Amino acid sequence: MARVVYVNGSYRRHGEAHVHVEDRGFQFADAVYEVIEVLGRQLVDAPRHLDRLQRSLGELRIREPMSRPAMLHIIGEIVRRNRVTDGLVYMQVSRGAAPRDFLFTGKHMTPTFVCLARPVPPGIRQAKAQRGLRIVSLPDIRWGRCDIKTVMLLPAVLAKEQALAAGADEAWLVDADGFVTEGASSNAWIVNAGGQLQTRALSPALLPGVTRHTTLDVAAAIGLEVVLQPFTAKDAYLSREAFATSASGTVMPIVELDGKAIGSGKPGPIAEALRKAFHNHAQHQDCR
Ligand code: PMP
Repeated sequence: MARVVYVNGSYRRHGEAHVHVEDRGFQFADAVYEVIEVLGRQLVDAPRHLDRLQRSLGELRIREPMSRPAMLHIIGEIVRRNRVTDGLVYMQVSRGAAPRDFLFTGKHMTPTFVCLARPVPPGIRQAKAQRGLRIVSLPDIRWGRCDIKTVMLLPAVLAKEQALAAGADEAWLVDADGFVTEGASSNAWIVNAGGQLQTRALSPALLPGVTRHTTLDVAAAIGLEVVLQPFTAKDAYLSREAFATSASGTVMPIVELDGKAIGSGKPGPIAEALRKAFHNHAQHQDCR
């Protein structure tokens, strides 16, 4: 079956979908994105993802490409036309195409909107969760507005490559004071020595993860104490467990940091409990 992509008003075959060579997403990374999990043909936490998309666009003064119902309609069509039952939806909005110029004020541009979906067999993620992730720590060399979900992902690309070269799955990015900001594409958590869930408070240094938000809801529902404080690699070694959250992995146990075991060196019971309960607390909605 041919893959179908939505780009700027039409549904096209994957190999024939293009954006302009002077698109500002291409030239300046002047674009934002979202990734939404699809589970059993339903979108997971779509309102929170679309709220964050709206916020990212607002922070960069990029026009909203369309209304929310129109966007949900396109997402639904893309999921349906690609026959995705379990997988991911990717959406990207750039400021648009224009002759190359740093300045954008006063220039009329139509935002570029792209939407794709691909299936991810649930077994692959489950196998990863059962094994647990290995992490490497690296300096956080990103910009000062990591709370905006921009496509300026080169530092994350390089961090993931370094993780792969070290035989790891993900990188934890460490700030100048030695505190973990977040993962290259996930939020970072520990279950500290006192048994509390610990993750960094929101700030411009990290992405406000939708999965992080819902995991906080799950923690409250099952009565886990949470502290919103940063932690160091040393804190992680003293902790009982660690895990990562993201829409593409929900809650993923972490078993190793820089080659040394965290906790028992096996996926921990709290991370497993959060992972199991996650979809009972996330919002699910049919693709329309
Ligand atoms: N932090 C970063 C840097 C990310 O790229 C992501 C998303 N892949 C996350 C955290 C997790 O966010 P979400 O739970 O909304 O997927």
